Amino acid sequence: MPSIYERLRCPICARKFKRQDKVVLDMINTVIHQECYHTYTEKPLLPIKDEGSFRKMVATYEFFWDD
Ligand SMILES: [Zn+2]
Repeated sequence: MPSIYERLRCPICARKFKRQDKVVLDMINTVIHQECYHTYTEKPLLPIKDEGSFRKMVATYEFFWDD
């Protein structure tokens, strides 16, 4: 099974996340690059629940740990 770092992509830029990338987590647990979130203007995005490095998010939220 590919690791979380291989499977997850930013829904805005479609790039994979690196451990040190700054990301936001929205209310339905979508991970988005912090920069993408703040520069995206095409439609409203969900409110932010948490933000920080991708590594921190993976370490903090157990829904990343499945499989
Ligand atoms: Zn992005």
